Parts: sequence; C-alpha cells; structure tokens
Amino acid sequence: MKKKLRRKTTKILTIAGADPSGGAGVQADLRTFHYFGLSASSVVTAVTAQNEKKFISVNAVSAKVLKDQLHSVGPCDFVKIGMLGTRENVQEVIRYLKKTKPKCVVLDPVLCSSTGTRLLEKSALPLLIQKLFPLCTLVTPNLLESAILTDLPVTNLDQVKTAAITLLKNSPGLKSVLIKGGHLQDSATDLLRDGKNFHLFSGKRFPKSFHGTGCVLSSAILAELSQNQSMKESVSKAKKYVSMMMR
Ligand code: PLP
Repeated sequence: MKKKLRRKTTKILTIAGADPSGGAGVQADLRTFHYFGLSASSVVTAVTAQNEKKFISVNAVSAKVLKDQLHSVGPCDFVKIGMLGTRENVQEVIRYLKKTKPKCVVLDPVLCSSTGTRLLEKSALPLLIQKLFPLCTLVTPNLLESAILTDLPVTNLDQVKTAAITLLKNSPGLKSVLIKGGHLQDSATDLLRDGKNFHLFSGKRFPKSFHGTGCVLSSAILAELSQNQSMKESVSKAKKYVSMMMR
C-alpha cells in the first residue's frame, strides 16, 4: 500500500496588539515574518489607535475573545508574544502555552508605548514574571522594562548584567534574556544572558527612536530560531535586520 506523505510545516504565531499605523504589534510582526519568507498566524490581544505623532487609545480584547482566537489557531511550534494588555489575557496565554507546549517562545514584555501609555495592567506583573516568563525561551525587555521587572536601577552595563541574572533567577524555567541597551549611558549595547554566558552586541545609536523596533527585533529573532540558528546567532542576525530597517 502506498504510504501517505504527510507534509510537516512549521507553524508560527504572533500574539500581540494591533497597530493601525503598522509600526508595531501584529502588523510589524507579520511584515517581519514575511521578510524572512515565513507565513504566520496572528492573534490580537488589543486594538490600539496610534500614528507616528500620537497615541490615541488602547482597548484590550476580553479573555474570551483571546481564548477563541487561540483555540481557532491551535498548537504552534514557534510563538512570539508582544503586548498583552490585561492580567486576564496573561492568564489566558499561560493556559494556551501549557496546553500546546510550543518548541520556542520569544516574549517582548511590552509595558508601555514610547509615548508613555500603559500597555499592560500593573496588577499583571507578578503573573507575567512568575508564571509566563518561565514558559519562555527568550524574554527581550528594554532598559525601562528591565528596571520595572526587577525593581532595580538599570542604566549602565554592570546594572544590565545584574538585571539579566535577576530576571532569570526570578523566573525559573526561563532560558535566556536579551536586555536592549539602546539608551544606555555608555554605549548602545544589547546584552544576552544565554544559560551561564553573557554575549554583548554593540550597535549604532540612531538619532531618532522608532516605535515598534522591539516588535521587529523579537519577531526577527523568532524567525531565525525557527531556522535552527543558535540563540546568539539569531540575535546577531536579527539586530542586523533591525539596523537595516531603521536606515
Ligand atoms: N505593541 C503595540 C500594539 C504597540 O502599540 C506598541 C507601542 O506603541 C508596542 C507593541 C511597543 O513597541 P516597541 O517595539 O516600540 O516596544
């Protein structure tokens, strides 16, 4: 009897907020995956109204709406998580990851927009750190997010190293942390804590900051990881992609 050939495709998913300007969130993630030749599913956690000049409003979807979307997509191998909005949505994503056990999860802990609008309820922080981070392969906070998540000052490279170790210690199960040092006093250096090693990635400081660069970077890292690249290699290549986009 002829053996049925079952095609095995890698399923990629982004769980994030929608940004009609296309700079951040789901739109930026899908555009990045497309650049890397990957198609992905997308689940929306919140609807923002914003453009390059101002942030107008944000409305998180209910946990039920999020749950229905996750259910409709089903299990995925590679998952990128961005803005979650509410504590209930964090809880729903934890349930989804525990149930579906993806191979790899990259989480950009979006806490507020560059204009200062809060994008995750404060009450969600303990759940995020204690229950969601431990299910992730990589978490990618910027300096401000690292300070909020660790309750430590994070303004120079030594403090970045301490924050990375603290983040991993507070979330047992979390594999690696990338702290984005774009606004560091000394240099625009990102630091990856991968297992017990530190890797530094120095970069050019751009005169203007663009919203959505965190979304693009974390999606590009996930895209590289899905192609069997190491964590260090994935971060390095993703950073090159972001620099190219900004230029
Ligand atoms: N996700 C959404 C939906 C947003 O609206 C924003 C910022 O406004 C972000 C993520 C954060 O973007 P960044 O990549 O600049 O941290």
